Amino acid sequence: MTETTRSIKRCAICAHPAASQCSGCGKTFYCSKEHQKDAWTKHKRLCKIYQRQAQGEDVPADSFCGLCGKTDGPLMKTQCCNRTICDDYEKYRMFTYSHASCARNHDRYTRCCFHYNERHGGDQFTCEKCEEGPSAEMVAWYEVNNFNFQADIERANPPDFPPSNCVKCGRLMKLGAESHAYTPTGGYICDECSGH
Ligand SMILES: [Zn+2]
Ligand SMILES: [Zn+2]
Ligand SMILES: [Zn+2]
Ligand SMILES: [Zn+2]
Ligand SMILES: [Zn+2]
Ligand SMILES: [Zn+2]
Repeated sequence: MTETTRSIKRCAICAHPAASQCSGCGKTFYCSKEHQKDAWTKHKRLCKIYQRQAQGEDVPADSFCGLCGKTDGPLMKTQCCNRTICDDYEKYRMFTYSHASCARNHDRYTRCCFHYNERHGGDQFTCEKCEEGPSAEMVAWYEVNNFNFQADIERANPPDFPPSNCVKCGRLMKLGAESHAYTPTGGYICDECSGH
């Protein structure tokens, strides 16, 4: 029998090993208070929904966005996984790195959508092509960040990865959660050190 449940819980913002858990719903995990705070704006509505579900209330999955918990405003179904999400692509502003649009976030930054768009076929959770990425850290991030639906995060089995430190200042970098560059000599450099 193969064990596929995750041994380590990962942060919903950066995929680094988690140090704390949401005390409201117990479903989401974070590496730090900082990332827990970053996630809260989108998590707070979902948190209430998960708590109502845990108490046995039937909250239909198509009545709210699975990424931010919104019930009002236009909702649509994703093509990749046929789940309910905000129909909000227009919230994204061209040439910004804004993460304001749930639809775009799921589309661009998740294994679910990558697997679908690249037509890998078969189950995304055991897909070997999805395991090839720029780094194990980014592969893990694509699987467990909060642009994924909770059910997928719970099924995910992200790879372990070595920490990446900035080649200049030595600071631990969280590659999925901050912008960074890859240096020609190898290794990553943080935004401040690269002068951006
Ligand atoms: Zn984190
Ligand atoms: Zn919660
Ligand atoms: Zn949403
Ligand atoms: Zn999907
Ligand atoms: Zn795949
Ligand atoms: Zn640096």
